[in-house]
Amino acid sequence: MTGFECPDRMEYSSIRLISITMALRFYNTLAGRVEEFHPLEDKKVRMYTCGLTVYGYAHIGNYRSFVFQDILRRFLKYQGYEVVQVMNLTDVDDKTIRNAKAAGLSLRDYTNRYIEAFEVDRQLLNLEKPEVVVRATDHIDDMVKLIQTLEKKGYAYKSEGSYYFRVEKFPDYGKLSRIDLSGMRAGARVDSDEYDKANVRDFVLWKAAKEGEPFWDTPLGPGRPGWHIECSVMSMKYLGETFDIHSGGVDLVFPHHENEIAQSEAATGKPFVRYWLHGEHLVVNGEKMSKSLGNVYTLRDLIAKGYRPTAIRYLLASVPYRSLLNFTFDGLHQAKQSVERLRNFQYRLKKEEFPAGKSSELEDAAGATRRKFEEALSDNLNTAEALAAIFEMVREGNTAMDQGKFLDGNRGAFLDTLARWDRVFAVLENNDAAMLRQFGLLKSEQERASEHASAGDGKQEKVLVETLDDEEIERRIAEREEARRGRDFKRADEIRDELLEGGVLLEDTKAGTRWKRK
Ligand SMILES: [Zn+2]
Repeated sequence: MTGFECPDRMEYSSIRLISITMALRFYNTLAGRVEEFHPLEDKKVRMYTCGLTVYGYAHIGNYRSFVFQDILRRFLKYQGYEVVQVMNLTDVDDKTIRNAKAAGLSLRDYTNRYIEAFEVDRQLLNLEKPEVVVRATDHIDDMVKLIQTLEKKGYAYKSEGSYYFRVEKFPDYGKLSRIDLSGMRAGARVDSDEYDKANVRDFVLWKAAKEGEPFWDTPLGPGRPGWHIECSVMSMKYLGETFDIHSGGVDLVFPHHENEIAQSEAATGKPFVRYWLHGEHLVVNGEKMSKSLGNVYTLRDLIAKGYRPTAIRYLLASVPYRSLLNFTFDGLHQAKQSVERLRNFQYRLKKEEFPAGKSSELEDAAGATRRKFEEALSDNLNTAEALAAIFEMVREGNTAMDQGKFLDGNRGAFLDTLARWDRVFAVLENNDAAMLRQFGLLKSEQERASEHASAGDGKQEKVLVETLDDEEIERRIAEREEARRGRDFKRADEIRDELLEGGVLLEDTKAGTRWKRK
């Protein structure tokens, strides 16, 4: 290392050092156990994520999966890996075709709408953008080629204009899901796409064109691709025939991922994916999400109820990905308070005055916290323990501050640990209001006032409570100072009351005005 390295560069080097001593472990569905993670290429991870079928807005069950994958990629990067992540968007299937038709739009125009909405949601939830985001309908030629290869090798056959995968020709079928197909009843539906198959286990690769449905004219004949083939094609195209991680919800293990393995390995003769990571389900108040129960929430539903995207992200990240997550509004409220607790602590660290000096006990506490959350995340992304570690530090820090024992020299270590933790959890920046405003999802003062007047239940006021951002609070505090200097105490009190109504408590100290959220 030269003496001219910039600080960022040095930080990166020290992270690389840590990753050598701390092995990353993941539960690999294919192995059926926790394994040490070693990518094919040193310090580079290639991963594929089954993305969204864009027939409507994504719901919080989808976002649980995407938050888990975001924590995964952020922690890999934290550990010094370069990450290349590919995510597909399924923009042709029965549902997209049905809904586009009902809306009187072309498939492209209809799906564009929900791809744009998904992109907005992604930014609101602070999900990093995968390096490659691709649409199925942009890869029809590649899919046709893979099906032709499978046919040449005897793994695919044509029947009434459609192509099927011959499962009995692939003896490894079932190795991911450990499903026993020997007892499968004739007529059981393995795949919702029912066409004429030679064997009930066989699944569709290419669907013959149907009256009134979009189709592509290809060497296979007119038709459209099956769902499974798109993931085999788009993952191998951008990541190679063998890559490191494939992730998705647990509901995709069978048949989707099992079929991806069969298609890919039959075509290439090589192992397809080395580590399969699957996220558990999300339930709402202990019940499976369903339209009939009215408990399918989109991100926008929750925003309209006055919840902040960062609180939603926090809640979805708080339960380790392989455990069932029970979503409740109480839980969401607690998540919001947890985020506030962290932000208030960070605010104290930055703004409060502390006596000079440095306590070695507190320095050690900050260092130990950092090791604890890194170890927790290395252990198959145990986010619950990583959260417990940071809150232990917040408690110790707050207590020391209240007792006057927190010293000025301890500021740096605490801020550093918080910032490192937030590189993975990404909830400390208070940008909810700014983002909602940017995407037109934040109501204007007038809209709020008129709704408030007509509704009269104070509900819209709640939206205001949830969305006062730091900058706005600081601006109003400065305004209040100005009023006090001008001896306009009535105005000063009004501002204090307005802030209180907005959920912000002021405390006047000798060192100036401090604030925190309720
Ligand atoms: Zn997929």
